[in-house]
Amino acid sequence: MKKMRICTVCESYTLSLSHCQEKTSSAHPLRYNPNDKYAKYRRMAKCSKHS
Ligand SMILES: [Zn+2]
Repeated sequence: MKKMRICTVCESYTLSLSHCQEKTSSAHPLRYNPNDKYAKYRRMAKCSKHS
């Protein structure tokens, strides 16, 4: 299975090690971590501070 990578410059998913003349990062699902079950509570707490 090929690893998906993401370009840090244009945020495109790619299989290349570089894009936009920069190294790409491995596209692990940092934005959605199923193990981080407290993430949404942290977000709620962060939001409530803004209100
Ligand atoms: Zn790019």
